[in-house]
Amino acid sequence: MNDGLLFIISAPSGAGKTSLIKALINRDASLSLSISCTTRQQREGEIDGVHYHFLDQTAFAQAVTADAFLEHAEVFGNHYGTREADVRTCLFAGRDLILEIDWQGAQQVRVRFPAAISIFIVPPSIAELERRLNGRGTDNAAIIAGRMAQAYSELTHYVEYDYVVINDEFDAALNALTAIVNAERLRLARQQFHLNNLFTHLNSVIEE
Ligand code: 5GP
Repeated sequence: MNDGLLFIISAPSGAGKTSLIKALINRDASLSLSISCTTRQQREGEIDGVHYHFLDQTAFAQAVTADAFLEHAEVFGNHYGTREADVRTCLFAGRDLILEIDWQGAQQVRVRFPAAISIFIVPPSIAELERRLNGRGTDNAAIIAGRMAQAYSELTHYVEYDYVVINDEFDAALNALTAIVNAERLRLARQQFHLNNLFTHLNSVIEE
């Protein structure tokens, strides 16, 4: 059996990444989403162990010292990290895994897992990004302006990714993500095991 594929998906906030990933996982039973650790406050509706593993600063720092993270980074003043053991367990079981992480984490994962496939989701325009960041209705103007500046600096990292998906129309972007996942599964290297078996069988039939 092949190890699972490791997908990294990043986006500036407001690009619509979280809903796209949720829909992608709902339509593909062999995809899992990695659960990150974070020091940020739990939001209403979030469940510990489902949306994130919520850690305090001490527990997070201990995990860093113990080298438990495949990658970790500070995003919007909070710490986030992906537990390496969880990733390896999933991949070794042959399951494909998505890491929903920022560009700093993506850079670290590429060093440790060069075969990881990275996808960057971008909003269709800056005006639409601004509309989406405003549309949340939960943050004040200064926070939105800060997010726009942050989004701009995050956007400059698109060049580091294997694929870019423009989230203009939700279904089209979802289909594009599905196409990337399926194409990566169809790579020759991923099917070598199956083909070897096929040819072994064929040889035995010819020799009979
Ligand atoms: P939020 O707190 O809104 O759920 O996520 C904020 C940002 O943190 C998002 O850009 C998200 O991709 C990023 N993030 C979430 N989990 C991780 C992680 O484990 N590692 C890194 N590097 N970034 C993460």
